[in-house]
Amino acid sequence: MLSVNRRANDVRTLVADWRSSGHTVGFIPTMGALHEGHGSLIRASLDQCDRTLVSIFVNPLQFDRDEDLATYPVDSRADQNFVADLGAHALFLPSVEEMYPSKQLTLVTQSELTDHLDGAARPGFFDGILTVVLKLFHMVNPDIAFFGQKDYQQVAVVRRMVEDLNMTIKIHAMPTERESNGLALSSRNRLLAKTSRSDAPKLFKCLNELRSRFRDGETEVRALVAPIRKTLAAIPDARIDYISVVDGQSLQLRTDRVQVGDVVAIAVFLGEIRLIDNIILSDHPWKS
Ligand code: AMP
Repeated sequence: MLSVNRRANDVRTLVADWRSSGHTVGFIPTMGALHEGHGSLIRASLDQCDRTLVSIFVNPLQFDRDEDLATYPVDSRADQNFVADLGAHALFLPSVEEMYPSKQLTLVTQSELTDHLDGAARPGFFDGILTVVLKLFHMVNPDIAFFGQKDYQQVAVVRRMVEDLNMTIKIHAMPTERESNGLALSSRNRLLAKTSRSDAPKLFKCLNELRSRFRDGETEVRALVAPIRKTLAAIPDARIDYISVVDGQSLQLRTDRVQVGDVVAIAVFLGEIRLIDNIILSDHPWKS
């Protein structure tokens, strides 16, 4: 039976009970509108941990546009069924008041890894994410927290926060789940207009083509990026936020030649909806 909790104190008690019975605890923080991408993280936790707790919280602290927050899809009944059907043990559904009972004066800020990509494109975004993730980690106290590589920069900054702040939580990153046409699953996909929906798979197609050209020997950043910039710019209603190649570890921009292990990350608005995706420049066709 899925235990549904709205209070941090109830979650603390539940997890303390699990721990006193010797169980390990896996945690998947989400913003809801759950799909198979979230499902893969929940399954990984069920495989690796004795108990699995999923949180759903649309975190106002990480939205820079009120409109984006207001339109973020919410479907708590479907989400609850989704989590229960997978066999997870508990759900944490805090309200904004529960997470932020008073004005949040303390923020977690990280430098360097947030210099580029979404860190540059969305001011305050990672302060909001790191602050809420740290709060959730304190409330849930998990052994392992599961994140998706679709949000490559997010996993990197969370990992670094855990290291920098001497936390003992393990961070596991899972591969991006995609539709058969390559489109990365995202809660935002359901907000796409019909034409944007059919254009959206071009994002991954472009990334894949770029990687093929890299595997064929092209290493110059501009030569790799120019064709995909052209293709994406040609989509009516599309606006490129960024197309960047970064070092997979430091997330610093590559401006000259790419190397194995670099990451190509893109953010594109299709109409009003902002989609992100990325690909790792591995040199082996069977590695993603
Ligand atoms: P969100 O609800 O969008 O905040 O995502 C919650 C977690 O699910 C994050 O760690 C995401 O990276 C992960 N996630 C979202 N979409 C996917 C996907 N298509 N494949 C794998 N993980 C995903």
